[in-house]
This record gives sequence, structure tokens and C-alpha cells, in this order.
Amino acid sequence: MSTTHWDAEYDVVVVGSGAGGMAAALTASIEGRRVLLVEKSDRIGGSTAVSGGAVWAPLNAQSDKVGHPDTFDKVWTYMQNTVGDAAPADMQRAYLRACAGMVDFFDKHTEVKLVARSYSPDYYPDREGAALGGRSLDPAMFDGRLLGPKFSELRDPLREFMVLGGMMITMTDAKHLLAVTRSFTSWREGMKLVMRYFSDRLRGYQRGTRLVLGNALAGRLFKSVLDRDIDYWLNASLGQLLLKDGRVNGVSLVRNGQRISVHARQGVIVATGGFPWSESLRNELYPQPTGPWSMSPQANRGEGITLAREVGAALGSGHVSPAFWAPVSILKKPDGTEVRYPHLVWDRAKPGLMAVNAAGQRFVNESTSYHEFVLGMYRSNKTVPSLPAFLVCDHDFMERWGVGLALPGGRPRDHLVRAGYLHQAPTLRALATEIGVDADGLAASTARFNRFAESGHDEDFGKGSTAYNRYLGDPEQQPNACLGKLQQGPFYAVKVYAGDIGTACGIHCNESAQALDLQGQPIPGLYMVGNDMHSVMGGEYPAPGITLGPALTFGWIAGRHAAHAAS
Ligand SMILES: Cc1cc2nc3c(=O)[nH]c(=O)nc-3n(C[C@H](O)[C@H](O)[C@H](O)COP(=O)(O)OP(=O)(O)OC[C@H]3O[C@@H](n4cnc5c(N)ncnc54)[C@H](O)[C@@H]3O)c2cc1C
Repeated sequence: MSTTHWDAEYDVVVVGSGAGGMAAALTASIEGRRVLLVEKSDRIGGSTAVSGGAVWAPLNAQSDKVGHPDTFDKVWTYMQNTVGDAAPADMQRAYLRACAGMVDFFDKHTEVKLVARSYSPDYYPDREGAALGGRSLDPAMFDGRLLGPKFSELRDPLREFMVLGGMMITMTDAKHLLAVTRSFTSWREGMKLVMRYFSDRLRGYQRGTRLVLGNALAGRLFKSVLDRDIDYWLNASLGQLLLKDGRVNGVSLVRNGQRISVHARQGVIVATGGFPWSESLRNELYPQPTGPWSMSPQANRGEGITLAREVGAALGSGHVSPAFWAPVSILKKPDGTEVRYPHLVWDRAKPGLMAVNAAGQRFVNESTSYHEFVLGMYRSNKTVPSLPAFLVCDHDFMERWGVGLALPGGRPRDHLVRAGYLHQAPTLRALATEIGVDADGLAASTARFNRFAESGHDEDFGKGSTAYNRYLGDPEQQPNACLGKLQQGPFYAVKVYAGDIGTACGIHCNESAQALDLQGQPIPGLYMVGNDMHSVMGGEYPAPGITLGPALTFGWIAGRHAAHAAS
């Protein structure tokens, strides 16, 4: 469809305000273009704002300084050993060649400051080319007060990642808070966090303003957008991509109920965050069974991908998974609302947690990555019902670590039991009956698991066998940081579904993030970034930050390309 009437005119229009969209908008603006950023919801940030915020950007300038000198050949070897031919080699190379430059560019021109982790193993540390640190970066803590009144426009983090009703914490913060009575350093760090949080609340903030994880990344991107006076419209949804002579030259939006057309002289960059909440695209592209089990915000409904297909763009192919998986537990509250918890890095790897299917059998290394865990669920489900599966632990584990929404340290959990989220029983046999799992199977699996805990060697699935497993375990636990016994009742179980943290299958693009048509030719004026672009990881999950890294990098690339495109 084309139009001759424009309600507004810009050089570049960017759709979607997550990492991909804001990176593109900032870059095009820094390159001197007039940019409009369009966001469907009433908040800035998308999944990026609720994410862990890790950014995988190998070969970045900090990796040496944090003790992990790296080379292109080494990372390339790792990519070959993980992604392989699940994604086109030229796209993987383009990513590796650009991501360090992206980190430097934003560091120099914007508030986006990323800090390399000194220890954070790639997810397959035993494969050649893997690194134990330096490749993944975290957004530096961000002071939300710097956004002034716009703080309320930034999407809130997941409530499950906050304590005391609104205080964001990292994994390190959580460890300090759990050890306040055992260590002076932890007590001091814990006190600092809590004092800052209470001072924020006394000043009238609805949540803490010390932002970390993905909220810090989205906050930093948003602050940079504000600093550059980039026009942005909330509550404005992409309705159509407009074409003239085969070139995308604008968008039709629905803004506050009105249809308006915006001219994009140099290009439209689409970054609507993939399709985790589109039932039809899930049915087309996900394995079965699939459910609405995503952790992404519900606004991510595949509209960018669908509209790009309508103007001739092709879906990518060759990927091994259509999504980035994560086991998710779901609390259904009495008022009908749901609270979801992604079991990413906290509970599964700790000693004393075991995952079983309906036969009461283990089926996976519990401390593997969230993505591998769900692949294990689907594999097991071919022979034994494993969707959902169950995370099982004993009373000591629950008190020490908690599972999902059930918190440790004697915190109340009766409401979770009443809601059917947490299952509790005095014996393992009673627990099996309660959750509908084969009782003999569960008893046999537990006895075997307890033997492995004693020897320190999981002969079946290798729990605790890699540096990544142990990184998330308990270093005080011997002989294996991830193996402990289940022995003292009451016993607990939490049901987990095959959830996701976003989609991997998107529009086939070239190294400049231009959308390609069915013949592999660029559609002039149309770029796809973030999860709307077919993932350069091909649905593999080699390391922490492999979705935000490409989202920022190809956002940067698309912003530059569009800024210099002939209009
Ligand atoms: C709990 C959790 C933890 C995660 N942790 C990490 C991590 O540590 N590292 C990592 O790399 N990845 C992580 N991820 C995944 C990562 O958050 C996403 O892959 C990434 O944020 C996607 O960025 P994006 O720019 O494509 O989309 P988003 O950040 O989701 O932004 C898309 C935006 O587009 C808007 N939109 C949708 N439709 C329209 C429309 N029609 N018109 C206008 N706007 C529209 C949405 O409202 C949204 O604001 C995590 C995800 C979750 C849920």
C-alpha cells in the first residue's frame, strides 16, 4: 500500500522501544538524522526492561583487562562448536566483527555503559573456543532518578526480580542479603541497599531507583533518547508498512485510536520484539505442545514480522529452535491474574534440587542453561509426559535457597500452597501422589540422586560437571557444588512449563540488517532488528547475552545504514 498524504515526516522511523529499537534510534540520531521512535504500549523498554540485561559482545575492549584475552579465531571456533550451520556464517561473522565497536560507540556517545564480567563462563565451557569470562557484559547500575518525571514511563522490571515490593537486586545482591547474619561485608552491603530503597520510597517513588539488570540497560538507553531529544510516541502501534515503487517509505500507525501516516524518508527500522504472544505464529513455528508460557511482555505479538511478510519479506530458516527457552512456573492468583517466574540462574543449579517428569525420572542436567533445560523437556516428552515437569527439593533446600516464587529463610509460603503453585508433602511418596507423578519412579530417582550427591558425580546427566554449572551452584558444597541430598521432609515440588524469554525465528536479513525478500534481495527502506530479525545464533544459546548483544549490534548497524541510505 502507498500513500500521498503524510501526517508527519522524519528521516528514519523506528518501531519498538527495546534494545534493538532504541539502539537504532540513537545511532540514526547521532548520525544526524531526524528520528521518530514509536512504541505500542504505554511504557518504554519491552522485554529488554524486564531482562537480565547481559550482553554477549566478544572481543570487547574490556575482556583483556578483566583477565580474558580473546581472539577472533577462538570465538569463531566456539561459534562453530555451538551455532554451527544453524545460522548463516556471514551473519555470525558480521556480528562478531561489529559487536565490540557497538560497545565502544554507545560508551562514547550515550549513557549506555557496559561492564565486562570477570567470571561468567560461556554456556558450553567444555567446547573448544569457550571463555570463562570477558565476553558477557552487564549494564552499569543506573540511577532512575536521572530520568526525572519520565521514570514512570520506563517499564517496570519483573516483580519476581525485586524484593521488599520494589527493590531490584542482582545475584550478588541476593547472596549478600541471604548472608546478612553471617558476614559483616554482606550486612554492610545489604544495609546500603535497603537504606537507599527506603529513602526512595520516602521520597515518593513507587519503586526503588537503583536500577540494575535489563532495567538499567533500558533506563540508560531511554536516558540517551531523552538527552538527544528524539521524538518518541507511546501508545502508537505499527499498523502497516507503506510501500512506494517497491521501497518502504513510511508507516501507518494507530495512535490513541487514530490512524496516521508517517513518512520515513530514509527507512523504517522494525524492532517489535518477536512473536512470543502470537498464538498463530507459535502454532506455525513452535514445537508442540506450545502454550502462552512466555516471560516477554504481552505486547510482543509478532506484528513487525507479520507486516514485513505482507510487504514481501521472508522468514529465516535453518534454525534449530524457534525460541530462546526457559522453564517457567506460573502462579494463578485468586483474582485470576498470573505471576510467572523464569527459572534462569537461581535455583536449578543449587545442590539438592532435582527435576523429574511424570514417571518420576530425571531427564536433564538441572544446572544446564535454561534453554538446554527446556530442550531436555521436549526430548523427554517424546516418551514420557514432561510438559510440565517438576522441580523437587527437600525442606533444607527450601529454607536455604527457595524455589521460584517460594522464598527461602522461613518466609511465608502457605499462600503458594493454597494457590496450587507450591506442592508440599511430608514424604516423597505423598508428594508424588499430590503432583501425579509415579511414586516408585520418584523414590528410585531420589535414591540414585542422593548416591550421586555423596560421590559428587552425577553419572546420568552430569549435574555440576562444567564450569558453568558450578558457577551457579554453591561453592561451599563439597564434593560437587551442584549436588546435595533430598532427605528431610517436608518435600516440595514446583511445576515448570516450556516457556521462553523471546523468539529466535524472524525475518531473513543481510549483514546490514536489511529485510530480504523470498529471492534473497533487500527490500529497500526496510530493516529488522532485535527479535524481529532471524537470530544470528540460529536458535542456539551459546552464552549469557546472546539476544541483547545482537539486538544492540544490529540496531547500531541498521541505524547507521538507514542514516546514510539514499532517500
Ligand atoms: C526474564 C527475561 C530475562 C532475559 N535476560 C536476558 C539477558 O540477560 N540477556 C539477553 O541477551 N537476553 C535476555 N532476555 C531476552 C531479551 O530480553 C530479548 O531478547 C530482547 O530484549 C529483545 O529485544 P527487542 O528490542 O527485540 O524487543 P523488546 O525489548 O521486547 O522491545 C520490543 C518493543 O516493541 C513494542 N511493540 C510490539 N509491537 C509493536 C507494534 N505493533 N508497534 C509498536 N511497538 C510495538 C513492544 O511493546 C516492546 O516495547 C531475557 C528475557 C526475559 C523475558
